[in-house]
Amino acid sequence: MLDALAGQVGPRTIVRDAELIAPWLIDWRGRFHGAAPALLQPDTTAEVAAIVTAAAAHGVALVPQGGNTSMVGGATPPADGSALLLSLRRLNRIRSVDAAAGLAVAEAGVILAELHDAALAQGRRFPLTLGARGSATVGGLVSTNAGGTQVLRHGTMRGLVAGLEAVLPDGSIHHGLPSLKKDNRGYDLKELLVGAEGTLGIVTAATLRLAPAVTARAVAWLGVADPATALALLRRLEAATDGVESFELLPAESLAAVLAHLPDARAPLADTHPWHVLVEAVATAPDDEPPARLLERLLGDALADGLARDAVIAASEAQAEAFWRLRDSISAGERAQGPATQHDISVPVDAMPRFLIDGAATVEARFPGTHASGFGHLGDGNVHFHVRAPAGADPERWYAEAAPTVTRFVHDLVVAAGGSISAEHGIGQMKRDELARLSSPARMAVLTGIKGALDPHGLMNPGKLVLAPGAARQ
Ligand code: FAD
Repeated sequence: MLDALAGQVGPRTIVRDAELIAPWLIDWRGRFHGAAPALLQPDTTAEVAAIVTAAAAHGVALVPQGGNTSMVGGATPPADGSALLLSLRRLNRIRSVDAAAGLAVAEAGVILAELHDAALAQGRRFPLTLGARGSATVGGLVSTNAGGTQVLRHGTMRGLVAGLEAVLPDGSIHHGLPSLKKDNRGYDLKELLVGAEGTLGIVTAATLRLAPAVTARAVAWLGVADPATALALLRRLEAATDGVESFELLPAESLAAVLAHLPDARAPLADTHPWHVLVEAVATAPDDEPPARLLERLLGDALADGLARDAVIAASEAQAEAFWRLRDSISAGERAQGPATQHDISVPVDAMPRFLIDGAATVEARFPGTHASGFGHLGDGNVHFHVRAPAGADPERWYAEAAPTVTRFVHDLVVAAGGSISAEHGIGQMKRDELARLSSPARMAVLTGIKGALDPHGLMNPGKLVLAPGAARQ
């Protein structure tokens, strides 16, 4: 296949040097290790189409990869070397930014931070951000239906994608970039490809919705009694303003873990509180109330009404960044405390306060010595729910023997609460068997049917999300 392809693509597109390929064969967290005889790095949609056509003709599997920041082993090829790695990183042009229409067309390999900059240069904003913004790409964000810290106001990628260009598993190109407000031509290919994790085709470019640029922001840190009070506060804020973009909840122990991990960091409030909230409010129009004044007013009322125990509004941009750094360092801080299983889960927003308290207690009762807690995007009903191993547990043994049972137990609780075992990171290879175990037969039949219809030979990102009908388990 590679020999046949060599005449059709540029000299830099096929990489066979094992040293250059090696860094891309391991996932971000170092949990999945793959192998691939070559890395393909096309820089045009036509080259992607030539590669996929050749792969289909030769029966060769392809694993698409963007920034390789997947948290679920989604972009790591199989360990047996049976697939080629298809990196979209060189397909990285921003084709257009139309400030008036509020639309940008970006190729799959454009890095999120570069998209932010390009939109800002035109006085607009791409309103989705996450910790991996310096590496994650448009193609990966689309393919995982990524979320982040602004979903509360702007939704996930699904709502921000107005059109898609993609190469389908037979090598044909789907030209779906025009943004249509109304389009009722039956099944929506764009919606199928968003969140498909590369199992139905290769995203080559996307038309993305932009929002007005932020003219001012304010970030506040609050102490609250419990998650139910935090949710009541969020509902109060939502009723009063549409300027709140982020509302992140964390328990006292998460803050303590971060402070232990970052020697130069300081707690924003003098006293300790059982739970903390980080709120960000923004202004985007000249006549919007300045966000610091807005928060001062709304949080003052909340304090008076007992919805918050204490609050501080960042006095400077540096302090606002320091608050966010505390939030963004929770995973690292908790990892430093010892082995733990992490679960990216969601339940209906109103059910989350109860899940955080009762779910943690149920897990700890079932697995004595463990410690369970959740933090994150309360307003999205999405938290990262961690279960720490008992003190003194041997990490390797705990991960191999106890952790899978703990994870299945947590997932069962989530499903019983009407939730999802993947709120924003996707399924990848890490959660594939859990998805199959916990989905209804009706749902699995549809997923498998769609996979079989679009990719009958199972060549698109094999082993991830859902197996092609008749495919062997890996
Ligand atoms: P990759 O990791 O390369 O790939 C992800 C999946 O998409 C794989 O299945 C891959 O095969 C497929 N894929 C990639 N490109 C294409 C393409 N062009 N066509 C078809 N399929 C493709 N995620 C969130 O949602 N919210 C967060 O807040 C968040 N925070 C994070 C913080 C950190 C520090 C890290 C490391 C990750 C975080 N993530 C978060 C996860 C990750 O950043 C997202 O899933 C992101 O969308 C992945 O983008 P990527 O370009 O790195 O994709």
